[in-house]
Amino acid sequence: MTMIKVEHLKKSFGKKEVLKDISANVEKGKVISIIGPSGSGKSTFLRCLNVLETPTSGKIIFDGQDLTHISEKELDILREKMGMVFQSFNLFPNMNVVENVKLAPMKVKGVSEEEAEKQALELLDKVGLKDRAKQYPSSLSGGQQQRVAIARALAMDPEVMLFDEPTSALDPEMVGEVLKTMQDLADSGMTMVIVTHEMGFAREVSDEVWFMADGYLQEQGSPEQIFENPQTPRAKDFLSKVL
Ligand code: ADP
Ligand code: MG
Repeated sequence: MTMIKVEHLKKSFGKKEVLKDISANVEKGKVISIIGPSGSGKSTFLRCLNVLETPTSGKIIFDGQDLTHISEKELDILREKMGMVFQSFNLFPNMNVVENVKLAPMKVKGVSEEEAEKQALELLDKVGLKDRAKQYPSSLSGGQQQRVAIARALAMDPEVMLFDEPTSALDPEMVGEVLKTMQDLADSGMTMVIVTHEMGFAREVSDEVWFMADGYLQEQGSPEQIFENPQTPRAKDFLSKVL
């Protein structure tokens, strides 16, 4: 089953065309890693998927609706079903960990505080941080903060999780714990689209790897296909530098 269908997506900023006709499908339950050089449009693509950036043209079809042609109100409802995790964790500094996680379900979904707290603690347990529930973000390591950010996104019970370089801002010794959390999520059957420079992770965990360069989705394939037998000169060149 297709969860997100991207049709002829283009995105320009002023005169600069950043995405140049991208069509692709995200199938339910699949883990997709997007790799490619800096500036190739990976973040813009991810942000177009949940219409944080408005595409210049093309369609994003999610849950049977074209996100580029619906009202802001309908869009807000669909966006709740797409969790997003960024390089910077963006936790609310004035709230403790469990408050960070339970806020959106209470505010946006109208879940009772008691129920939201219970769910938040379960999610914190999942990401290995239940014992930190009452601590403030500033007292946590970067890796722990990112795991809280993942729990916070999961609290909205999303259908798909989008990750934009979730480990790029972390000290090397903290990358593993975040990747482990993501691996667990993948194992649980979550649909995931992950922009990453962690090639080992992309290879291990992904069902599909998409290679982006110059605003095009240049290659899509299994990790074996992309990493062992890239077809385009652009992908061959990129992989020769990063592997
Ligand atoms: P990547 O994530 O692959 O590094 P980005 O999607 O961040 O690439 O950026 C692709 C190109 O789009 C870059 O040249 C970047 O400068 C440009 N770009 C991204 N966001 C904006 C914006 N809001 N305004 C103008 N240019 C942008
Ligand atoms: Mg980026």
